[in-house]
Amino acid sequence: MGLIAAVVAIFGGVIAGLVVIIVGLLAILAWNIRNLIRLVMWSREPIGTPVPRAAGSWGHVFAELNRRSRMSYDMRERMSSALERFHDASQAMPDGVLYLSDSDTIEWINLKAEQHFGLNHKQDLGAPVTNLVRQPEFVHYLQSGYHEDPLILHSGRRNGLTLQVQIIPFGDDQKMVLSRDISQLERLETMRRDFVANVSHELRTPLTVVGGFLETLIDGLDDFAREDVIRFLRLAQDQSSRMGRLIDDLLTLSALETGAPAPAEERIDPVALMHEIREDTELLSAGRHTVTLSMSGEGALLGSGKEIHSAFANLASNAVRYTPAGGKIELVWRIDDDGAEFSVRDTGIGVAAEHIPRLTERFYRVDRGRSRETGGTGLGLAIVKHILTRHQAELKVSSTPGEGSVFSVRLPRARITKLPVR
Ligand code: ADP
Repeated sequence: MGLIAAVVAIFGGVIAGLVVIIVGLLAILAWNIRNLIRLVMWSREPIGTPVPRAAGSWGHVFAELNRRSRMSYDMRERMSSALERFHDASQAMPDGVLYLSDSDTIEWINLKAEQHFGLNHKQDLGAPVTNLVRQPEFVHYLQSGYHEDPLILHSGRRNGLTLQVQIIPFGDDQKMVLSRDISQLERLETMRRDFVANVSHELRTPLTVVGGFLETLIDGLDDFAREDVIRFLRLAQDQSSRMGRLIDDLLTLSALETGAPAPAEERIDPVALMHEIREDTELLSAGRHTVTLSMSGEGALLGSGKEIHSAFANLASNAVRYTPAGGKIELVWRIDDDGAEFSVRDTGIGVAAEHIPRLTERFYRVDRGRSRETGGTGLGLAIVKHILTRHQAELKVSSTPGEGSVFSVRLPRARITKLPVR
């Protein structure tokens, strides 16, 4: 009996022990499953969400995961901010930048390149570049494989736009296309070429005349009467003075262009200046025109006396040269609240509206013959424009062909001082 009871007691103890072990194992399993579920749930959270905390071995696993996740999150942040900086820098570049894949589709494009090539990143990313930039020169340059030299591309989309395009291969057959707007440079280069051609032409004409006279005289000096010889020599002298005037004007222009950026700030007495201009005008007119002067307002003018005199005298001399005898020339100086104005009104041949915007271009003349006859170089108004720009002043022209013109110079308030002239 006692033995049976002992066996039952032992068996009961074993069962109880097993139950405790099973319950313990189940509890451990449940804990592990719970942590595993937390891990799975965490893995579905957005990147950067902290790993949950746990005790024991899971605590170590979670801590290690946390460390690694933070490291990769920081790395991602650093890389994405580096990428953002790179994109910002590419966007801010004054040049166009376009990235092409190995099959020449557009991968990325900055704002400047959109403007240069007439593209739009919203719809054009992924498209083959040659479907959108179709100019044969560009297509040939892209496909030629020779990208040492840049391509000069005259844009078909925007009139007057000239681009310098350079392809730079990189990575696995990818390409970077850089585009630069060189329209302004091109215009300057054309201007320079025209200028050299114009100067050569302007000098060659009188030189040919002088050369012709000299040749005629050398060949037949004895055949000409003394008066004819003197007439020839006078004509040759006129031509040489013309060349002299042209060279003087060229030197004045070049001095204005290369000289000090700001003119001297002298105090110029408008009364003395205007009287000088009137005397010069009357001298040039030699009684062929009625010249009047009217002045109003108090104050002196600040600027370069020499330059201002030259600009005003130029406008007055044009009025004489382009006004037939018997005409009227009015010189007006006025100081008002906004600054000052000098104007020359004539009753001369006038200028048609389409020529007015171009009058200040070098060598631009409405009537070449008339300009020459009156000793013009075609540089007068270009010099005037330069001088006025240096004095922050503006030239306004209004004219009616056959009736006359008004050339006025508007000087800003800052150029007028109430202080007396020293
Ligand atoms: P130019 O030496 O030929 O006179 P300018 O530069 O002084 O050169 O003037 C440019 C052109 O502007 C002249 O050739 C002329 O056709 C026109 N022009 C200038 N002033 C007048 C004016 N007062 N009346 C009519 N045309 C003028």
